[in-house]
Amino acid sequence: MSYDYLIVGSGLFGATFAYRAHRAGKRCLVIDKRPQLGGNIYCERIEGINVHKYGAHIFHTSDSTVWNFVNSIVPFNRYTNSPVANYKGRLYNLPFNMNTFYQMWGVTTPEEAQAKIDEQKKDALEHMRNEGVDQPRNLEEQALLLIGRDIYERLIKGYTEKQWGRKCTDLPAFIIKRLPVRLVFDNNYFNDLYQGIPIGGYNQLIQGLLEGIETRTSADFFDDRDFWEKQAGKIVFTGPIDEFYRFRFGKLNYRTVRFEQQTLHIPNYQGNAVVNYTDLEVPYTRIIEHKHFELFGADVYGNPHTVISREYSSEWAEGMEPYYPVNDERNNRLARQYRELAQQEPDVIFGGRLAEYKYYDMAPVIQRAMQTEI
Ligand SMILES: Cc1cc2nc3c(=O)[nH]c(=O)nc-3n(C[C@H](O)[C@H](O)[C@H](O)COP(=O)(O)OP(=O)(O)OC[C@H]3O[C@@H](n4cnc5c(N)ncnc54)[C@H](O)[C@@H]3O)c2cc1C
Repeated sequence: MSYDYLIVGSGLFGATFAYRAHRAGKRCLVIDKRPQLGGNIYCERIEGINVHKYGAHIFHTSDSTVWNFVNSIVPFNRYTNSPVANYKGRLYNLPFNMNTFYQMWGVTTPEEAQAKIDEQKKDALEHMRNEGVDQPRNLEEQALLLIGRDIYERLIKGYTEKQWGRKCTDLPAFIIKRLPVRLVFDNNYFNDLYQGIPIGGYNQLIQGLLEGIETRTSADFFDDRDFWEKQAGKIVFTGPIDEFYRFRFGKLNYRTVRFEQQTLHIPNYQGNAVVNYTDLEVPYTRIIEHKHFELFGADVYGNPHTVISREYSSEWAEGMEPYYPVNDERNNRLARQYRELAQQEPDVIFGGRLAEYKYYDMAPVIQRAMQTEI
């Protein structure tokens, strides 16, 4: 055997594990079925702009170990996620904060905003009581109780229905547990201590992690499983767990996103990296303008071009990218059955979002890979 570890998948789990194993003196081979390395954080450079090919990625964490680790590979910039919502041509700041309430109702003090929210929540409660209901029966009722009608209808309803492909009245209430409101003027989406984008783009992070490690792209583990298994004593598998077991209990389902990418020969299209379209008439959920992740202020105009991606959320089908696990009863049961098999596998480590069938942000994936025994 030529290697200690065969690492299937060069996303953040595989690359972080490979980095640690390599530093521990292990011989590693990383393979990926895609033509490039990096998994979902891979960026393509178009007109000098790093375009997030598999969806916009914003790194955020409160874990200083993870933050220091990624910054030791490549320093991160000061990008702060502050998305804007576009509802029928009117703009609102997100997450819900004093700016949003001012734009929604013209209120200028926290006291006025709170009174408005309370009044709308009370209306929702009374409406439900009049119908003889004391617990929210669906996502719509839950959202109305938590935030009231104006914010629900303008900023939640259409976006959620496009995201899930179902009406809010047909979605379970538990999807929305809390809807935090901030009675301060603060558009920073995340509450984490740290956030940013690697300076020079995410490919720098992957290249740094995989430096000095043998890699092969366009190499699918399942195209020649016997061959690949003979290459190393142990396998780190970050692909889909059901495929590893030849779908013996059935196929797992996903939600996916289709990206419609456009290069525009203007310097600034929407003035922000993320704009959510929250009405139902617009078919896409968001427009991402990639340059704003890495260029700020007047520097935006240093590049006369821009690249945007419209995002369309849809059900996953064969041949599409599997993005988000579907946590319904059937899929949870299947995933559990596959995980039970995985636990009995002495020489295979299953890690990452596909092998664990679990949605992970980037920082927790890195944390898991940092904690995995070598
Ligand atoms: C649309 C979208 C937006 C996101 N935005 C954010 C964000 O803003 N912030 C954040 O923190 N997180 C975000 N995430 C989550 C982030 O993408 C994941 O945490 C991270 O990519 C997980 O890394 P991974 O290594 O588990 O998986 P991946 O990055 O998917 O890597 C798995 C790799 O395995 C390869 N592979 C699969 N099967 C095989 C095979 N048979 N043979 C060889 N190779 C194989 C794949 O080609 C892929 O490259 C987002 C996710 C999505 C889907």
